Amino acid sequence: MIHKIDALLAEIEHLKANSNEDLEALRIKYLSKKGEISSLMDDFRTVAAEQKREIGQKLNLLKMQAQEKINTLKEQLENRNTSEEMIDLTRTSYPYHVGTRHPLSIVKKEICDIFARLGFSIAEGPEIEDDWHVFSSLNFAADHPARDMQDTFFVMHGADILLRTHTSSVQTRVMEKTQPPIRIICPGRVYRNEAISYRAHCFFHQVEALYIDKNVSFADLKQTLLFVAKELFGAETKIRLRPSFFPFTEPSAEMDISCNLCGGKGCPFCKYTGWVEILGCGMVDPNVLENCGIDSKIYSGYALGMGIERITNLKYQVKDLRLFSENDVRFLRQFEAAT
Ligand SMILES: [Zn+2]
Repeated sequence: MIHKIDALLAEIEHLKANSNEDLEALRIKYLSKKGEISSLMDDFRTVAAEQKREIGQKLNLLKMQAQEKINTLKEQLENRNTSEEMIDLTRTSYPYHVGTRHPLSIVKKEICDIFARLGFSIAEGPEIEDDWHVFSSLNFAADHPARDMQDTFFVMHGADILLRTHTSSVQTRVMEKTQPPIRIICPGRVYRNEAISYRAHCFFHQVEALYIDKNVSFADLKQTLLFVAKELFGAETKIRLRPSFFPFTEPSAEMDISCNLCGGKGCPFCKYTGWVEILGCGMVDPNVLENCGIDSKIYSGYALGMGIERITNLKYQVKDLRLFSENDVRFLRQFEAAT
């Protein structure tokens, strides 16, 4: 009988259960009333008196160990079941912020899309430029204040290498390489030596448009301006043109749109005039065409340029220019819907 108990002890040590059914079978085999241990208990009655003590102890140990083993196996099975249940494949994923487009990118894209519908293609050029492409080719006088270090960042002293102050330099580069018809827009970052405040920054963004062909007139410019204004600010938008001066256009004008906040009635935003200024434009000065190798007797063209920050401020009422470059996610997340 001792041998049988020892064999069972060894057997119990290595028991395994992969399911509740396995476990139940083991329980029945060892611990039920008709199980191995119960039948040993029955046999125990016939054991000789002098062996009763030793065998009794062994038998109790066997019963205890069998019970313990079954309990351990049960616990293991339960743990495995709960960890499997935790993986719920039907559950939707955690909310995950994918980020938003920057408001300036949103507006830039919108402007580019409007011009694309008019047949304009995008042209790009370097941000570090030379004097010729930024000033001289564009008819800036030698003593023009824009050439002053007060206004322009010069990269190399005396070498006339500078950070472009407008994207018109890209127009020059295209005109030098291409004969009309030319129909391009130049979006990009520009730099001015300004003290940073809520209304001025040392860099900002522009989109300029250039159209050169035979018989391009101011009327073509005005139609384009009206179309762009209505597309950007709504079909009710009106425009007005005021005479102005730029070195590279003649005649030149600045364009106002009817205030999109008060609809032209007058409010603090438009300083009670009903109008807000949004861009500069004009007919390309014949000198600029000649500088770039285009015959001004055959071709004429118009150019216009606007600040993307300015347009974004008007569309979204952003009061402080600095917000555009501070990367504050609380500000940027407000543009999720527009992305
Ligand atoms: Zn207004």
